[in-house]
Amino acid sequence: MADFTPARTRVAPSPTGDPHVGTAFMALFDKAWARRTGGQFVLRIEDTDQARLVEGSEQQIYDSLAWLGLQPDEGPNVGGDHGPYRQSERLDTYRPFVDRLIEAGHAYYCWCSPERLKEMRDEQARTKQSVTGYDRLCHGKTKEERAKLPGFSDTPVVRMLIPDDVPLTFHDIIRGEVKAPRPDDQVILKTDGFPTYHMAVVVDDHLMGINTVVRGEEWISSTPKHILLYQWLGWEVPAFAHMPLLRNTDKSKISKRKNPAARLMWFKEEGYLPEAVVNFLQLLGYAGDEDAEVKAFDEFVADFAWSKVHTVGPIFDLKKLDWLNGHYIRSLTADELADRIVAWAREYGQWSETMRTDVLRQAVPIIQERLVTLKDALPQLDYLFASDVTIADDARATLKEDSGAVLDEAIAVLEDIPMDAAAIQTGLRERICEGMGIKPKFAFGPLRVAISGRKVSPPLFESMEILGRDETLRRLRALRATL
Ligand code: GLU
Repeated sequence: MADFTPARTRVAPSPTGDPHVGTAFMALFDKAWARRTGGQFVLRIEDTDQARLVEGSEQQIYDSLAWLGLQPDEGPNVGGDHGPYRQSERLDTYRPFVDRLIEAGHAYYCWCSPERLKEMRDEQARTKQSVTGYDRLCHGKTKEERAKLPGFSDTPVVRMLIPDDVPLTFHDIIRGEVKAPRPDDQVILKTDGFPTYHMAVVVDDHLMGINTVVRGEEWISSTPKHILLYQWLGWEVPAFAHMPLLRNTDKSKISKRKNPAARLMWFKEEGYLPEAVVNFLQLLGYAGDEDAEVKAFDEFVADFAWSKVHTVGPIFDLKKLDWLNGHYIRSLTADELADRIVAWAREYGQWSETMRTDVLRQAVPIIQERLVTLKDALPQLDYLFASDVTIADDARATLKEDSGAVLDEAIAVLEDIPMDAAAIQTGLRERICEGMGIKPKFAFGPLRVAISGRKVSPPLFESMEILGRDETLRRLRALRATL
């Protein structure tokens, strides 16, 4: 391994609903970098906004990361030396640091009521002031002094006193030198005594030993504030990697409201393989790297480099995912694929008691080549398990006058040839195509309808082999009897 400092990275989702695909995107790069450098990847649950918590969401975060193989090395569900890993269990941690900042003059109480702040902002907007943000009415005042002025509220917040010379550029390990807008006097402690994200994230990242902060680009504008907090508290500033936002093919932002695929569990529900989803997310980060197309996570880790991460253009193109999924499906053995199909079908209610794993294992090779998702498998193969084949109307409509004769001949052939696909094909070709002079298209159409009930089905002769002689004959006779 190269001489890297072991990275401690973290992903810090808020359990406010179904996990977002962005959480996996961050976790993937966190875990890759931790692995590459021999470090650790930490999961922290940011659950201080009690009003937005959604029951079950935290469990879904664990489940979906585990499904993708992106389990953390430390976290609420796995433990570790830097816990607790849930912010709601750390509430006593933050206050002493806020007090230190107040004592040092880096932070101050603000008693302005929400109404006063609104008036102030409206006035700033009306007069088009170039400098906006909090006007520091409370700064330097005692509670008594401030109480004499309008817009006073008894329960204060604590704000950062952003200095005039606040550095507005910082180094990002993906983007190089990054410029951010001048921050406002950010609230760091709310009226309820809870820290805001900005305070909690700095304290937690420091106490958890995080030295590489990987997060979405929407946090770039907050970074100068975070760097000030680190400096004021006398702590080493971590490295920052701001990942690009995932976008739709029309360049709009991925949102759970508009895109089903923004929900991480969607990929599982739709029958994508976790290794394909991971590969897809890798590619989103490495946009435009032709050599990175198909790469298992371990290979991705082995030559991971931040310089390959693209900051523009990761387009969330599900066609690419379909292609990758097909690739990973084809690379499984038939038995592995059958087992995955069964596990998926059981979880999502596609499995029925008439279905049989041994039959599915035999049948999988006939669809594997063109299969896109696990979800698509059984609907293509369900005829194999049917006790009575239902003939679709459009399939029956393809039957011609000679269909009865074709079925009779096929029944005669299949009564006494070996039931393997090659022998079936040869036997039927000889007797129906050559013997009766019927083109293959018309010769095999009625047989396909009898066997599958459909116009189009997976390969016919293989299907007959899987069904066996008795069931094949039974189906051919059943259709024959209706003509
Ligand atoms: N809880 C924040 C989020 O969900 C974490 C941001 C960060 O990684 O710093 O976006």
